[in-house]
Amino acid sequence: MVATLRVGWATDRGAVRQFNEDHVFAGGRVVAVADGMGGHAAGDVASAMAVDVMSQLDGQSEHLRPDEVVAALGMRGVDDDGRCACGGVGGEGGAGRDGWSPAEWALRWVWNLPEVSVALSGMSSMEQVVDNIRIASDAAPGALTERQLAMLARAREAYMTRTKIACTECGYCQPCPQGVLIPDVFGLYNEAEIFNAWEGSRRMYAGIAKASKDASRCVECGQCEAACPQQLKVIELLKEAHTALAIE
Ligand code: SF4
Ligand code: SF4
Repeated sequence: MVATLRVGWATDRGAVRQFNEDHVFAGGRVVAVADGMGGHAAGDVASAMAVDVMSQLDGQSEHLRPDEVVAALGMRGVDDDGRCACGGVGGEGGAGRDGWSPAEWALRWVWNLPEVSVALSGMSSMEQVVDNIRIASDAAPGALTERQLAMLARAREAYMTRTKIACTECGYCQPCPQGVLIPDVFGLYNEAEIFNAWEGSRRMYAGIAKASKDASRCVECGQCEAACPQQLKVIELLKEAHTALAIE
């Protein structure tokens, strides 16, 4: 007798969240549910990535093992005894139970590049110094797997699709003769959209306005546009950002 598994689902963003953070995948061998991220910043991006990774395991292995799932998700959730943080048995040893932090992912990406021999990382506590030394000692050029690099690329793509303005916050447009904090304004606008953090961004923008450095001070002299290496239409984008961030 052959057992048949039928899968169906329904999901709703609920009464609190602005975005639905749930993602689901049902394949021939893998069913994955990322049941939201508790309203965490860009949680919908994180759950989509987790499910995307799981969907790629479908059909790869007839009997999927916990360590394959852990490795696919790049969690490194395996302790020195080979135990997976989820309670199963892992295949990779030597890493902590908590996986890599976003900062560790970023540093490991930099150290993965063969042309990099020095990384300047801002540190404000001894814990960060110790952490950076540990990562630099452990990471090596080409150490990230293709799957990990693919996951980072998907994360980048996910964030880029939600970036409103391609400002790198380089600051070449500063100082503005009217005092407009262009990179700060664009940064707040991007953060609001990427992390669904409108309340915080609008509150901080109100602080910038109070200091008379918000986008409404622009007199359209064009100096910033001539200086911008990204060739952004700063004047129009400032108007857009102001409309989105200003609290009436
Ligand atoms: S165009 Fe506006 S934002 Fe740009 S430098 Fe002139 S006043 Fe400042
Ligand atoms: S010069 Fe352009 S990219 Fe750099 S901070 Fe100003 S607007 Fe952003």
